[in-house]
Amino acid sequence: MRISTLSIGDELICGQTTDTNAGSIAAALLTEGLRVQRHLTVGDNEPDIMNALDELGRISDMLIVTGGLGPTADDLTSRAAARATGRRLVINEDARAHVRLISGKLDSLIVCPLSDKQAMLPTKSSLIPNPNGTACGFQLMHNGCFMFFMPGVPSEMTVMLRESVLPFLLERVTRKRVIRCVTLNVFGPSEPEVDELLLGIARPELGLTLGICVTFPWMRVTLRAEADHADAAAELLSTAAHTVRERLNDYVFSSGDCSMDAAVAELFRNRDLTLALAESCSGGLIAKRITDIPGSSVYFLEGVVTYGNAAKKRLLGVPSGLLDTKGAVSSECASAMAKGVRSAAGSDLGLAVTGIAGPEGGADGKPVGTVFISLAAPDGCWTKRFQFHGSRDEVRSLTAWTALDWLRRYLLQRTVS
Ligand code: ATP
Repeated sequence: MRISTLSIGDELICGQTTDTNAGSIAAALLTEGLRVQRHLTVGDNEPDIMNALDELGRISDMLIVTGGLGPTADDLTSRAAARATGRRLVINEDARAHVRLISGKLDSLIVCPLSDKQAMLPTKSSLIPNPNGTACGFQLMHNGCFMFFMPGVPSEMTVMLRESVLPFLLERVTRKRVIRCVTLNVFGPSEPEVDELLLGIARPELGLTLGICVTFPWMRVTLRAEADHADAAAELLSTAAHTVRERLNDYVFSSGDCSMDAAVAELFRNRDLTLALAESCSGGLIAKRITDIPGSSVYFLEGVVTYGNAAKKRLLGVPSGLLDTKGAVSSECASAMAKGVRSAAGSDLGLAVTGIAGPEGGADGKPVGTVFISLAAPDGCWTKRFQFHGSRDEVRSLTAWTALDWLRRYLLQRTVS
């Protein structure tokens, strides 16, 4: 079955509103084993809407349209649909009753002109109920293509899609394919490195595709298997996911919707270890992310932002001589901070970061983006220099991500490398 979608709205083509409808329709169809083949977006312009309906109608068995069904003058979808399919626009009594009902005007004898406009639908079309709004959805058949028209408001559209459009569509699918997905979340290597490591895993000819989606500073590797039966799709997927995990090894920090923060929290809960933080250039970002997760008080004892040298000396016991000779941004200072906070807090682990987030402050040998991370644990202290690139925000974000990744690695394998 060939399915297309069409989003209508000036705010969409001007970039004021992100087209979430297209994504949620595609995702809802995909869980039913159906793919959207073509998607178009047009503004509130009648000829453009008519052309899009004509073009997509020719190549599709089903066309799902959203937007432009409101009561205002710029809502042109019903009229364009009528003209594109050679129908008249007439008052639809079901639609009129619906508008009255939702508007709470059941007791009014006169329908206001705006409501009337929303009740004007192309002839030979049937209403798609909209339980949450006045805009009436409708469907019609034109030249062998079922066309569904729904309002643009995502909360209204989603209910109509789920309750009316999808059931109608699924009843007419003759050969259903099963589509299953697995997402693995990766931090560390660059996109080309991941691409090279995963070479040859995708087998489109067998129905197995692989996508890499970068969301700074981490990425998602999505495996999608398509088959005639659920078992076949699941087998394709589990073999491929196993290979991806083998090749990416501990760069994979979680799967599905589990964030790095949640993955670290889960490990802390299972390891019975406590943590204290000493942050300089990250300014408390790591503590924020640790405490974003409910229940973190079980393992997170305290965090200090020791931004100035005086605080590093007073709160963490970093020696003056060390700061004078090596500087606050140094391997020696980072490990003194990690050991200092661990001892001050009485925690199992002490994690410290110190660096230059920029945009100023870089010096010879220590450019902007130089960051030292140190982890002090009962079985050793690891300290490493990193050279991050990007804006101040990006350097700070990379610092927090890498620090959390160190915690994850230590909790998993008692080392950070
Ligand atoms: P209404 O009766 O509310 O006017 P409508 O069908 O005319 O319904 P629009 O006027 O096009 O819908 O849009 C209503 C709201 O829904 C706007 O806030 C718009 O930004 C949002 N919207 C429209 N289309 C989309 C879309 N494709 N993705 C996300 N939001 C959308």
